[in-house]
Amino acid sequence: MLAWKGSGEEPALTDANPNHEPQTDDASTSARIGEQDLARVLTGDLPCARCQYNLRGLSILHVCGECGLPVKATLLAVIDPRADELREIEHPTIMQVGLLAWAVCAFIASILLWLIRLPELFDRFNIAFQTPSWFKIFAVVCIALSGLGASVLIRPHAGISRRDAWRAVFGVACYTPLAVCVWVIADQIDAGRLTVYLNSNDADPARSALRLVCGLAIIGIALSLRPNALRIAVRSVLVRTGRVDRQPMTALAAAAGLAMFGDVLHLVSPYAPNAVGDLLHVGGVVAIAAGSVLLTMGLFGMMMDVWRLRPLIAAPGIGLVDIFEPDETDT
Ligand SMILES: [Zn+2]
Repeated sequence: MLAWKGSGEEPALTDANPNHEPQTDDASTSARIGEQDLARVLTGDLPCARCQYNLRGLSILHVCGECGLPVKATLLAVIDPRADELREIEHPTIMQVGLLAWAVCAFIASILLWLIRLPELFDRFNIAFQTPSWFKIFAVVCIALSGLGASVLIRPHAGISRRDAWRAVFGVACYTPLAVCVWVIADQIDAGRLTVYLNSNDADPARSALRLVCGLAIIGIALSLRPNALRIAVRSVLVRTGRVDRQPMTALAAAAGLAMFGDVLHLVSPYAPNAVGDLLHVGGVVAIAAGSVLLTMGLFGMMMDVWRLRPLIAAPGIGLVDIFEPDETDT
């Protein structure tokens, strides 16, 4: 989730502020007339929501010259002081550790599952290769730790609706069938078998069925954790004028869906005539491999995004009270 697409979309207005240089993100100023309209200069006094620096003369595309808070954040604090993006994260350290555990452990688990299947690939090239048997234990432990970390997404800050909180609870719960099925496949079904994909004789309906459960669980995790994960990601728009790509978690679900399509092909291939059955089997292996590669890439991207998001979680809150009681000291 949460990839930033560069920040070149914010044009700089060099003539807008004669007094100081604003910290604008670099700008491909190339004609974006629509955004230029947005870049109206602030003509009245507007104290920065964090540091009270006067933002007069800046445009909404700029950031505060003192503390770097985007002008957008101050405007949002004025317009919608209860916005999610302004909510303070009550336990930033727990949130950081939880999100990192969630993303890093998921990625490590996916790598371990690749390594566990590696001997089958190496065997085709007559290379003897053994994966240590503790890899499967480590993989299941990583899945469990990822689920434990994901639990910080149930209530990342105050103001989360019951519906979104329960949705995240469901997402975390989906880790249980995932861990159980991965364990049963690795420890029971694949035990002592070198090849599980090589030819259609290897096809095991029980294995395909368990893999389908894994796929459903991954889809459940990705789509159920997505709303609250986006709440954290959206803060980046304000805290560092980035753009949030909202697709990555949906892409994870789609990758799992592609792999599941391969498992369905494997389930139906025994019922097809020989030649067609072999074709379905090969198609299934291709779909499973492609889905798994996309899933691993998606998990890697998610891990990098969480790493980049880390400082934003610890970013100081915005002083809302000061905006709404500006004259208190004068009276
Ligand atoms: Zn400021």
